[in-house]
Amino acid sequence: MGSICGDSQPHNVVLFPFMSKGHTIPLLQLARLLLHRSLPVTIFTTPANRPFIFESLNDTAVTILDLPFSHNVPDIPVGIESTDKLPSMSMFPSFANAAKLMQPDFERALQTLPRVSFMVSDGFLWWTLESASKFNIPRFVYYGMSYYSSCVGRAVTIDRLLFGPESGDELISVPPFPWIKVTRNDFEPPFTEPEPKGLQIEFIMEVFIATAKSRGIIFNSFYELEPLFADYWNSECTPRAWSAGPLCLAEPPKGSTEPHNKPIWVQWLDKKHDQGSSVLYLAFGSQAEISPAQLKNIATGLEESKVNFLWVIRKSESEISDGFEERVKDRGIVVREWVDQREILMHESVQGFLSHCGWNSVLESICAGVPIIAWPMMAEQPLNARMVVEEIKVGLRVETCDGSVRGFVKWEGLEKMVKELMEGEKGKEVRKKSKELAEMAKKAVEEGGSSKCTLDLLIDETCGKKT
Ligand code: UDP
Repeated sequence: MGSICGDSQPHNVVLFPFMSKGHTIPLLQLARLLLHRSLPVTIFTTPANRPFIFESLNDTAVTILDLPFSHNVPDIPVGIESTDKLPSMSMFPSFANAAKLMQPDFERALQTLPRVSFMVSDGFLWWTLESASKFNIPRFVYYGMSYYSSCVGRAVTIDRLLFGPESGDELISVPPFPWIKVTRNDFEPPFTEPEPKGLQIEFIMEVFIATAKSRGIIFNSFYELEPLFADYWNSECTPRAWSAGPLCLAEPPKGSTEPHNKPIWVQWLDKKHDQGSSVLYLAFGSQAEISPAQLKNIATGLEESKVNFLWVIRKSESEISDGFEERVKDRGIVVREWVDQREILMHESVQGFLSHCGWNSVLESICAGVPIIAWPMMAEQPLNARMVVEEIKVGLRVETCDGSVRGFVKWEGLEKMVKELMEGEKGKEVRKKSKELAEMAKKAVEEGGSSKCTLDLLIDETCGKKT
């Protein structure tokens, strides 16, 4: 790999991910891509988040710098340094504001680094723009959202929802994209409130303003997946967008090939594959909270569907229903640990994914050619689910009992959709489309592919031409 330097001194890159797994993982994948291009990378984080980053990149020469995270923040339990560990997402605005207290330490550390050529920081760390400006460092923003949800979210919140009279499930057209219809329930407060108010809206305004003033925004997407929305962003919105994804293809899953070194759930998948059986994978990311009643309905739906399944749940959700795991043990496994999700999705036996539609999970599923049952829970997931089902057609929507986008799902609805995805005609259609997109994703990051060329161009423009 050639060195990318305008002169003899290396061009260092600073990465500052937000403190949650869904925001951190893709930036660690970006770190790999930069390191492959011989750019030294320094990642800023907090002490509690360091071990995960260190473990993920321990085969690289990355530098990790810790900044102390304040533990005297009203509303936030002492010791919590990641949104994955917040007892409730209602604490998110206080947590995000507490992150700003790292600014002086961040700036002191920046001064000690040699020649920082650019910075990529999470959109939620909006104040890093000010730090970057103080040291004349171009800042690129990372959000971890698709072009689709960024463009639709922007058009609707600016034009209609903040002020419109529509109720929860009434369909509203999105002005620049008339074929797309959304509901107020696709969005979370404060966008759906009649007046902008409170800490959350102030935070969002800061994020929007700092984003617009940054050098660029890096999308974890690839042009061929959503060309219309990528073009819309670059003609109507600021700052300039760069598609560098899917970042999850930056490295193969770390899984071992030695049978005895594989986690038991991968050994179980191997067994299913040897038996010629296909498996449904279920997981809801690192943030979503599932109620006990909902867990019981998922379990009953799986039991009745008779499909093989691998279900990852959070440790805090350990109670499912009496005797469930014993009854289904021949065709189902419940895992209560951190898994390598990409390794599971890439496994030949996995033929379907029941997902909350976090953007990383959607991309990982697309890259594995695995179709999705879309069950959004929070944040921009309802928009991701619309994209998956209505726009790129790689998934089916789960049936909620009241027909709303994020409602309760009864076991009968779940059983029906699981069977449709794994055995039905609609399942076949979305599986075929998923496999086509997987091929396109692979091409995008290969030599000459759109995302590979885009990242090279970003580096060339920011650091100077390759020598
Ligand atoms: N993930 C994982 N193992 C787990 C749970 C999650 O590897 O046990 C990864 C998953 O592959 C994805 C990220 O964590 O890269 C979750 O991001 P996503 O956007 O899907 O959802 P979020 O957690 O942000 O809601």
